Amino acid sequence: MIVGGVVFAAALFGILTRPVGFLASFWPANAILLGLMVHNPRYAGPAGWAAAFVGYVMADMLTGGGWYITAWLTAANMSSAITGYLLFRLVSDDDRKLQRPVSVLYLFGICCMAAVAAAFVGGGAAGLLFDRTFAVGFKLWFVTELVNTLVILPAILTFPGIRALSLRWPSDGLSLETMLHCAPCLALILSVAAGVLIGGPGALAFPIPALLWCALTYSLFTTSVMTLLLCIWLLISIPAGLVDLAAPADPIRSLDSIRLGIALMALGPLTVASINSGRRDLIARLQHTANYDALTGALARGAFFERGQTRLDELIQGHGNIAVLMIDLDHFKRINDEHGHGVGDAALKAFFPQAAKNLRAGDLFGRLGGEEFAVLMPSADMIEAAALAERIRLAVEATKLSLPSGEALEFTVSIGVSAHRADFGTSIDAMLAAADQALYEAKAGGRNQVRIRN
Ligand code: GH3
Ligand code: MG
Ligand code: MG
Repeated sequence: MIVGGVVFAAALFGILTRPVGFLASFWPANAILLGLMVHNPRYAGPAGWAAAFVGYVMADMLTGGGWYITAWLTAANMSSAITGYLLFRLVSDDDRKLQRPVSVLYLFGICCMAAVAAAFVGGGAAGLLFDRTFAVGFKLWFVTELVNTLVILPAILTFPGIRALSLRWPSDGLSLETMLHCAPCLALILSVAAGVLIGGPGALAFPIPALLWCALTYSLFTTSVMTLLLCIWLLISIPAGLVDLAAPADPIRSLDSIRLGIALMALGPLTVASINSGRRDLIARLQHTANYDALTGALARGAFFERGQTRLDELIQGHGNIAVLMIDLDHFKRINDEHGHGVGDAALKAFFPQAAKNLRAGDLFGRLGGEEFAVLMPSADMIEAAALAERIRLAVEATKLSLPSGEALEFTVSIGVSAHRADFGTSIDAMLAAADQALYEAKAGGRNQVRIRN
């Protein structure tokens, strides 16, 4: 009932607004049917499609179409919606809701294919109805169908449901915030008015910046609806002569319109590019926050294990060596207790560069937690790893941290080293456990020393 009723109403609207002796220039029925089926797949059974067929036929019959032509036009209309529906089933749910940048490209491709299907079936009808060749009918049908689906579908596909729509009047009346929120919409209306007043070939591009502003401010659905309204306005007003796109007789006015149009059009790709660059920046910052410890700058525990596993897998393939260091600050609790947590933090911060400056390119340095760090050394043997550990120990021992009191704080580290031949039995956890055992021995042996274990 819903499908049949909606199709009937939309088809009636198309028939009543079409110029005499011509196919309708704005024919929303097919796009609405397609949107309805994609948005609510439960309608898309045999009963739903049959109801749509009845809706088309009744609208045409009611307005006096012959049965032969009616059947042909209905077949063309439905082939567009069915083709579109089948193709939409091939893309992901996110893409059907236009949630990704590439979704719009899919939408465009699917609308093109649906328009081709309708044009194939309907091209001949145009010849029969209006005495035109198949090629002319095909072209006409294709363009009309493409425009209608591209303009209407986004508003249906992104419809969030009645309950999600918040059309409440703001409780605080006309606050500055409310007015700012309405500004993009107002700019769109003004740009449309400018198109009417100035006219000329550039007028088509006047609303682009305002529409982009709407896109940056409002939801996907609201933006789709505004785009739909703008496109309907242009589709109606331009043929009706309300917006005069013809070059004005005055060449200076004509040139002004073109220049203005070009300048405003250029804002489109620039806006998209700047949004994208902002997005990339944000992702890079988020990735950095997720992967690095904020206090010291060492790799965070998760990232250390993840990257370590990747390096280990490569070394297993190439039959290489691998070594790990476990480093723990000595009597760190005492530093905290005697000088405060801030000094403890400062010691951790001072420790990191002293250790990091001794690493080779490609070594991974992670903070496993608290005052415990680990180094993973790809392709290193025990001699190399123990030498590095000793250099780190000496560098930390030589570090003097100046305290607020003016005194210098010295601190030390204990380090456990383990080295392995990378094979399928090797795991990061097992290597760290061996290094931890060596670290334990270093602590037991009096701290500020390096111990090794295979
Ligand atoms: P040991 O020589 O045996 O390693 O003794 P320790 O005192 O260094 O070891 P313990 O595990 O007893 O204490 C570690 C302390 O490190 C306890 C904890 O409060 C402190 N700590 C952990 N993370 C941080 C941090 O981010 N900042 C500060 N200031 N202290 C921390
Ligand atoms: Mg410690
Ligand atoms: Mg510890």
